[in-house]
Amino acid sequence: MNNFDENKEFVRRPSAQQTPQTARPQSRPVGEQQRPVQGARPQRPAGQTFQRETRMPSQMRGTSQRPPQRPTRPASQRERISPDSQPVKGVNPFNGKNILIFFLMLIALLLIIGLIFFSALSTSKETPESEKKSYVVSYFRGTGEDAVAEKYPSYELGSVSYINMTAIADICGMTVSGGHGVLRFGSGDSEYAEFSAGKNSATINGENVLMGENALERDPGSIWIPLEFAKTLFSSGVEIVVDSEEATVSVMRNADVIKFAVKGATGLGPVDEDPDIGQEIDFEFKTDLSAYEQYMNPADRDGFLILVNKTNHIDGSYIPEKLTILKDTRKDGRANQMMVETAAKALEAMFIELRAAGYNDVSVTSAYRSFAYQESLFNSYYERDRNRYPDWTDEQVKNHVLTYSAFPGTSEHQTGLCCDMHNLGSADVAFAQKEAYKWLKENCWKFGFIIRFPEDKVDITGYSFEPWHYRFVGRYHANAMRQRGMCLEEYVEYLSLTGQN
Ligand SMILES: [Zn+2]
Repeated sequence: MNNFDENKEFVRRPSAQQTPQTARPQSRPVGEQQRPVQGARPQRPAGQTFQRETRMPSQMRGTSQRPPQRPTRPASQRERISPDSQPVKGVNPFNGKNILIFFLMLIALLLIIGLIFFSALSTSKETPESEKKSYVVSYFRGTGEDAVAEKYPSYELGSVSYINMTAIADICGMTVSGGHGVLRFGSGDSEYAEFSAGKNSATINGENVLMGENALERDPGSIWIPLEFAKTLFSSGVEIVVDSEEATVSVMRNADVIKFAVKGATGLGPVDEDPDIGQEIDFEFKTDLSAYEQYMNPADRDGFLILVNKTNHIDGSYIPEKLTILKDTRKDGRANQMMVETAAKALEAMFIELRAAGYNDVSVTSAYRSFAYQESLFNSYYERDRNRYPDWTDEQVKNHVLTYSAFPGTSEHQTGLCCDMHNLGSADVAFAQKEAYKWLKENCWKFGFIIRFPEDKVDITGYSFEPWHYRFVGRYHANAMRQRGMCLEEYVEYLSLTGQN
């Protein structure tokens, strides 16, 4: 979680809607020059002072809540960055040199604004995965000129688009039989295609055919199949036309006789429905991690999939079992961080390999956090803002606190299955630029970890990109999510739709 990960999460400016990208590091080494950051300084109500917290979360326990002191800067710097500093007296502001400087600064300002504008334009052209729109699928009932389109959106899950096979059968007058997640669609010409929710193969005229992705049962009696597979399903009778540019799909009847294209008839053989992709090791570790295999790829394969987010709360009384101290807690005076034993051991393995790869400075800054701790933190923020904004309603105050602090019971850190780690002074997206991050991104699944809040899933997770937050799910599921391009929210839904949980 972004919240409380580091010092900066403890107290933010009242206008703290900023993302970590714009947040300034809160702690600087003593003696380091404070850069003037006029442009980056967020607005704050006049007369409002802002306090910076410099203590670590662990250090706050049991200490009195003394208001932290605002670091003092040399007077000269204070003047330079103060938004309401007075003009320097004793200088004629209208001499020629000053006017020249004024115009030069104006030109520079216009250039900067122009640059920002153009960079915003160019980045907006790229469409990240999370902004991928669903297709508008027109299911045409009838044929030729008389056909009437019934339009429904495709279903997007991870990187896969699905369309509704039951709807195709309906508009084409195919027979449908079966139930309980297994449906057989007959063409009326003794041909059939059979799909099972949660299986990545279909049976077409007796042949087992791979679809590349599992069929889904979104409602009882409605089977959804991958669009890519659907495009090649029929050899005659049904035409499926995809326009990727316009994001439209047309499904129409184009002949009386419906026939399926039987792919894979040349010796595909029986399809292995559920290969243990956790066991399938197609990589090698630099170090001998055989003693850790039982943790990275746990026998309790599905035991680490708990989903905690803003809508899936965790009970206040939930305390994970076998909390284990992490060897790799940052050595800066904070209390030893803990995770559930299996995750802690898998993390240990990851650190061994990370170091073998030459990255020695990454350490864990935060892992398990109790409900009570989160609750007391949230309440103290609430009290502070309640006093700070006397004109606001309780609801407004609460919503304001929620912009920078997780509500108790919505933090994944309470599961003991995740940790924040990086090699910066505080959690910052700048970590994504570090070589150590690139190694983690590429390799963490091998140890059973996922990047919980990826850059391209912000709309789904509800959290901005957190390159420092790693969640243990076990290798089998970490690999499955990686291969399907899914974040945990999508994956849990996928498991549900394919009858796997
Ligand atoms: Zn976190």
